[in-house]
Amino acid sequence: MSKSSSPRTIKAPPQVGIVSLGCPKALVDSERILTSLRSEGYAISPSYDGADVVIVNTCGFLDSAKAESLDAIGEAMAENGRVIVTGCMGVEEDRIRAEHPGILAVTGPHQYEQVVAAVHDAVPPVHDPYVDLVPPQGIKLTPRHYAYLKISEGCNHTCSFCIIPSMRGKLKSRPVAAVLREAEKLAAAGVKELLVISQDTSAYGVDLKHAASPWRGRDYDARLYDLCDGLGELGLWVRLHYVYPYPAVDKIIPLMAEGKILPYLDIPFQHASPGILRAMRRPANQEKVLERIAAWRGICPEIAIRSTFIVGFPGETDADFEFLLQWLEEAQLDRVGCFRFEPVQGAAANALSGAIPDEVKEERWRRFMAAQRKISAKKLQARIGQTLDVLIDEETEDGARGRSYADAPEIDGAVHLQTSGHRKPGAVARAKITGADDYDLWARPV
Ligand code: SF4
Repeated sequence: MSKSSSPRTIKAPPQVGIVSLGCPKALVDSERILTSLRSEGYAISPSYDGADVVIVNTCGFLDSAKAESLDAIGEAMAENGRVIVTGCMGVEEDRIRAEHPGILAVTGPHQYEQVVAAVHDAVPPVHDPYVDLVPPQGIKLTPRHYAYLKISEGCNHTCSFCIIPSMRGKLKSRPVAAVLREAEKLAAAGVKELLVISQDTSAYGVDLKHAASPWRGRDYDARLYDLCDGLGELGLWVRLHYVYPYPAVDKIIPLMAEGKILPYLDIPFQHASPGILRAMRRPANQEKVLERIAAWRGICPEIAIRSTFIVGFPGETDADFEFLLQWLEEAQLDRVGCFRFEPVQGAAANALSGAIPDEVKEERWRRFMAAQRKISAKKLQARIGQTLDVLIDEETEDGARGRSYADAPEIDGAVHLQTSGHRKPGAVARAKITGADDYDLWARPV
C-alpha cells in the first residue's frame, strides 16, 4: 500500500464564532479576521453552542451603538462565556471589563494581529494543510455576488459630531495596485458588484502623495480617478460610497457616463444650511453643491445620488431646517436617510450650545422624511416603462428580489422581479419597470 493511500486522521478544527456589529467597514474588518483564522485552520461556528471562543466586533460610533455593543457582549458571555472583544468600542476597555468581567481579551479597531493572537491564546490552532485552504477571495460575510472593497482607513477631517478620527487615526490609503489585485480576485471568485468603502473615498491616496503602482502592465496613481478607471476594467458593477464632493469627483462622472463604473454616488451631505455645515465642520462645505449636481446630471443624466442627513444638530434654527427642506426639494436626490442628532461621548459637538429638544428633532425628522418620500415616489414613478439591468439578490415566491444600479444593498430600495423563471442570486436580468411605490420598483424580464 502506498503511503499516500493510508488513511489520514484529521483533527476537528477549533471553532470560532463571530458577531459583527456596525458599518460595512467593520464588516470588512470581520472578514479579514476570519480570513486570517481560516488560513490557520480554524472553522467558523454559526452558533454560540458550537464555538470554542466568540469574537464580538463592536461599533462605538454613537452612544446607542455602544449600548448595542455592550448588549451583544453580554449575550455572548451568557451564551458562550469565552469572549474576545474587538472593534471601535474596544478603545473603552475599562468600561467593557467593568460591565462584563471575565472577557478574555479586548482589542481596538483594525488590530487584526492582536485579535488573532487572542484567539491563539484562547484556543490554539490545529493546522492541516490538506483541509485548511482559504478560498482565494478570502472569507466574505456578504452574499457571494457582492463584496465591500475597503480602500483606506481613518480620516483627516474633524467633523464635530464624529469621533472616528480619534478612534481610527488619520487617513491611511492602501496602494492602488493592492486594491485592484483584491478586486481582481473577487471578480475571479464570482463577485458581481464591488462596493467601494472608506471614511472619505474622495480623499483616497492623498496620504500616499498619489504614488503610482503597477497593475496589469500599467501604472495607476493612487487617486480616485485611476482607482475607478482600473476597477472599471473588471466588467463588474462598481459602486462608490462615502464620497465628498471635492473637485476630484467631477473627473469620475465621465467614467459613469461611459458605463465603466455605476452612475451612483453616496455623498453624506448631513445638512445644507451653511451655518450648520460650518458648526459640523464638514469637509467640502464651501462647494456649490446644487450647481455641481446639476453639472453631473448634465454629463450623466441617469446618475443616482444617495445621501444621509442629520436633523436637530445643536443650534439648528427653524430657518436652518427650512433651508434644508428647500435644498432637498431642489436637489431631488434619489435615496436619502436621515438621523436625529445624538451626542456621542467625546465629540466636540457636545460642547455646542443650542441643544434641540427631542420633540422638535422628532418633528423635523418626520417632516424631512415626508418631503423625501414624495421626491422618491415621483422619481420612481418616472422609471415606469424604462428597461434596466437588475442584479438578483434572492429568489422569492413570485420571482426574485434584486436591485438596479440606483440601489445599494442593505440601504436603498429593491426591484421586485415578477417572473416564473429561475433567477439565481448574482444573475443580472434585463427588466422593464412596470410599477413603483415610495421606495421600491416592480419589473418584468424582457
Ligand atoms: S469625514 Fe467627518 S464624519 Fe466622516 S469619518 Fe471623517 S470626521 Fe467622521
